[in-house]
Amino acid sequence: MATRERFHIGPIEGIRVGRFGFGINTTFIVYRVGDTLIDTGPPNQWPSVRAFVDEQPVRQLLLTHHHEDHSGNAARLSTHLGLTPMAPEPGREKLARGYKTPPLQRLIWGRPQPVETRPLAVGLSLSDGSPIVPIATPGHAKDLTCYHLPRQGWLFSGDLYLSRKLRYLRSDENLAQLMDSLRKVLALEFDTLLCPHRGPVEGGHQALSDKLHNLHTLCEQAQALASKGKSEKAILKALLGPEDWLGHLSRYNISKTNLIREALAVEL
Ligand SMILES: [Zn+2]
Repeated sequence: MATRERFHIGPIEGIRVGRFGFGINTTFIVYRVGDTLIDTGPPNQWPSVRAFVDEQPVRQLLLTHHHEDHSGNAARLSTHLGLTPMAPEPGREKLARGYKTPPLQRLIWGRPQPVETRPLAVGLSLSDGSPIVPIATPGHAKDLTCYHLPRQGWLFSGDLYLSRKLRYLRSDENLAQLMDSLRKVLALEFDTLLCPHRGPVEGGHQALSDKLHNLHTLCEQAQALASKGKSEKAILKALLGPEDWLGHLSRYNISKTNLIREALAVEL
């Protein structure tokens, strides 16, 4: 399947790609502002990504984190464009070494290839001189970094947003850190949030604030039920409903159970 959707938000362009069109969990948007590319899309969508990238010159390629839907074409783009992608420091070794992904992720995104990156440059900017400020936002992944463009009021959010209401968590995600990262980003001024799964979100600051509020409520509710002696399974059923296909197919790597478990551990 080729490009599924095309975005134009002022000077921001994007394409949504994905092998399966089951919603935001199986598709990905590569964004571009002028000659700056943000993330690279999943490895099995290389032909569509290459066609998009070939439309105009690319000066710099910024990665938000190492996950294969974001960095999966970085190695090919590096060769194709003759440039070295920039990546947040905590993910660079993993990107260079390569890493294995679970079978469901391989089916949806393909297999990532190792890639050499360079650290994020000091004083990153668009070609018109507008600053691009990297904001370290761990939680979803140790290396997750958002890119804030204060002059335009944009936030390229990597996987910090995804949804106002989270229903799943990966087994390696840290919810307390994620909530701290949301607070950190909410101290910034922006309006348009560019989520590579959900799409562009107008009123993005409010949407992120809603996400933090909803997570806080979930933690409160889960911990209240636990204090009444309810089991983890009973809390799951009461607050999120039973596990569904994503939980089962991912062998609970991406599951509601992970979210409840973390919600019980967050110190409020
Ligand atoms: Zn991710």
